[in-house]
Amino acid sequence: MFSLMFKRIPGTKDILPDEADCWQEIEGISRSIFSLYNYREIRTPLLETSSLFDRSLGRSAEIVQKQMFLIKGKEDIFALRPEGTAGIVRSFLENNLDKTYGFSKFYYIGPMFRFERPQKGRLRQFQHIGCEAIGSLDAALDVEAVSLASNLLDAFSVKDYKIKINSLGCAKDKEGLASRLKKAFRSKLTALCQECRERFDRNVLRILDCKKEACRQAAEELGIGDSYLCPECKSHFSQVKKGLDSLKINYVITPQLVRGLDYYTRTVFEITHKALGAQDALGAGGRYDNLVKELGGPDLGAVGFAFGVERLLLVHSPQSTVHSKNLVYLITLGEEAKKEGLKLLDSLRKNGIACDTDYEGKSLKGALRKANDLGAGYVLMLGEDELKKGTVALKDMASGIQEEVSAVNLVQALKGKICLRPIAAVN
Ligand code: AMP
Repeated sequence: MFSLMFKRIPGTKDILPDEADCWQEIEGISRSIFSLYNYREIRTPLLETSSLFDRSLGRSAEIVQKQMFLIKGKEDIFALRPEGTAGIVRSFLENNLDKTYGFSKFYYIGPMFRFERPQKGRLRQFQHIGCEAIGSLDAALDVEAVSLASNLLDAFSVKDYKIKINSLGCAKDKEGLASRLKKAFRSKLTALCQECRERFDRNVLRILDCKKEACRQAAEELGIGDSYLCPECKSHFSQVKKGLDSLKINYVITPQLVRGLDYYTRTVFEITHKALGAQDALGAGGRYDNLVKELGGPDLGAVGFAFGVERLLLVHSPQSTVHSKNLVYLITLGEEAKKEGLKLLDSLRKNGIACDTDYEGKSLKGALRKANDLGAGYVLMLGEDELKKGTVALKDMASGIQEEVSAVNLVQALKGKICLRPIAAVN
C-alpha cells in the first residue's frame, strides 16, 4: 500500500533532543554573558512588512533581491525576517524606547529565514544569537561589541577563530568609495565573475569581498587602502583599533570586508573559522549610524552583531551532558510498588530531582537496560520487600554499587549526589 512520508523542506533542520541540549547550552551561556554587559532580551515578530527590509538593508542587497520569503497579505506584502536588526530598530521606535530609555542594549535569540541554495552551514531557516546597542556614536561601544563577540566565543569554547575588521566610513565616504570603484572597475568588467558583473550595477562595494581569485586580484590591484575615509571616520577607526589593542583582542584589518547591507557605516567586523569551509563566517556585525533615522527616528548611532547557532555548533564541542547524568530512573516491581512509585516520582520532582520511569511494561532487565541507554546516573528499585521495609534500593550506575535507603531519607540522599534542577517552589 502507498504510504505518504512527509519530509522537511530542504534548508531546514529538525533539532532532535540530543542536539537541543547543545542549543540550550549555547543559549544559556549567551544569556548570561549578554547580561554581564547589561543587554536585555527583546523578542520581535518573525513576520514584518517587507518594505521594512527594502528600506533598511537596501533594495540592492542580495538578501532583499533574492532571498526574502514573502507572503502576500490583502494590502501588504509580509516577509519572514531575514535578520534581526531592522525589526529591533522598528520596535525600538514604535514603542518609543528612544524616549523611555535613551541608550538601550538588546539581545535576541531566534530564527531567521533566507531563500538560499542550501549547503553545509547555509540554511533557509537558521538561528541567530545577536545584539544591538542603540543610541551612541562612541567608538568604545564598537570595542565593547567586538570584545563581547569574542568573549561569547570563548565561553562557547570555540577556538581558533579569526576576527576581521574594517571601516566603511560614513555614508558620504561609502558613496565616494562606490563611485571610485565604479570608475576603476568599468574597464575591468570582463575580468570579474558573473556575479560581480551584476554587483557592479547593483552594489559595487560587494565586489571587494568576492571570494573568487580573479575578483580578489582585481580588487587588490586598486590599492584603495583606507584612502576613502574622512578624517572623523579615520579617527573613529583608530580609536576602535586602540581599544581592541588595550583589551588584547587579536584582529586582522581586512579592507575587503564590506558586508552586503546598506545600513552599515564605519566599523564592520566578521568572525570566521577555517573548519567551516566555504561558508566560514561564524558571525558578523558592525555600526549602523543612519538606520534609526532612515526608519523615521532621531539621529542615533548604533552597533550590533549576530552569530549563527548552526555554524557555532559545527565548531563547538558540548561541555556537558548534564541532562542524562542527573537523571534518576525508577523501576517498580508489582502493582502496589507502581502506585507508590507514582508518588515517589512526584515528590522527587517537587524537590528538583529529574526522574523518569518505565511506561512500556519492561522486565527488570529491560528497564535496567533502558536506564543505561538513557545515561541515568542512578536507578531506584521498588518492590514488595522494599515496600514492607519502607526503603528503596538505590543503584549508582557508574560504580554499580547498590545501597538500601529509607524512603523518607531518599530526597536527602539523592540531593548529596546529583545536580538539582531549579524549581519554582518546594512543597
Ligand atoms: P549575516 O546576517 O549574514 O551577517 O549573518 C550573521 C551570521 O548568521 C553568519 O555569520 C552565519 O553564522 C549566520 N548565517 C547567515 N546566513 C545563514 C544561513 N543561510 N544559514 C546558516 N547560517 C547563516
